[in-house]
Amino acid sequence: MTQSDLSKQPVAPPGAPLVVLSAVNKHYGDLHVLRDIDLTVHAGEVLVVIGPSGSGKSTLCRTINRLETIDSGSITVDGTPLPEEGKALAALRSEVGMVFQSFNLFAHKTILENVTLGPIKVRGRDKAAARTAGLALLERVGIASQADKLPAQLSGGQQQRVAIARALAMEPKVILFDEPTSALDPEMINEVLDVMTQLAKDGMTMVVVTHEMGFARRAADRVVFMDAGQIVEQATPDEFFAHPSSDRAKDFLSKIL
Ligand code: ADP
Ligand code: MG
Repeated sequence: MTQSDLSKQPVAPPGAPLVVLSAVNKHYGDLHVLRDIDLTVHAGEVLVVIGPSGSGKSTLCRTINRLETIDSGSITVDGTPLPEEGKALAALRSEVGMVFQSFNLFAHKTILENVTLGPIKVRGRDKAAARTAGLALLERVGIASQADKLPAQLSGGQQQRVAIARALAMEPKVILFDEPTSALDPEMINEVLDVMTQLAKDGMTMVVVTHEMGFARRAADRVVFMDAGQIVEQATPDEFFAHPSSDRAKDFLSKIL
């Protein structure tokens, strides 16, 4: 199987539960940041998470690849509970890709090295094979001609596309995007959303925290609205934007639309 096929062939069959959160609670000191979160992301699904600043969206993402621990409840990825530490945790992290607001590329590595480092170091891939696969991924996100440059030589939109290619290079089962376009100049937002839309069409399982409601309408299978650490409602984008059922969602939408 080539790498570019992988996003079309999640390990769990399309529609099967891939990421399952059950009764997840988390506190930061006195702050109850995640409250009884029950959420299932199905293989091949694009889940868009929206909600006011501080509602717990980033924390939710960070618990799914265990950048944050939880206080109670359970999280499984493809049937396996999140490991506590060690090699199993490293393996989990490679299965759950993450794309951050602030690209987080390695500044002193070339674009291609940024994409091949994980496969070589973590997956133990042969260097030449990683390079070929990396170039194919850069091609897929439209940056192949920049392969030998350093991140600082690229625009923000290009850097974020490299970050997406880097996540894909690990052959993840799911990719979490935490406000991937929030740090970009407006004219660069669409080039990143276009890559994400294509990934969604290819069948990649995606959890996307975003304020880009156009993307949510276009690409989401389901919209989850969070407020104050709770999932307040979830619906298809058509339902959610036309008929939000909670006052909190109505209030949120009235401010941003
Ligand atoms: P969102 O991504 O929806 O804006 P976050 O998940 O970043 O929300 O944050 C939810 C709440 O948790 C906020 O009140 C935030 O200040 C708080 N918070 C986030 N990270 C930490 C942390 N490491 N320590 C303490 N409080 C935190
Ligand atoms: Mg956030």
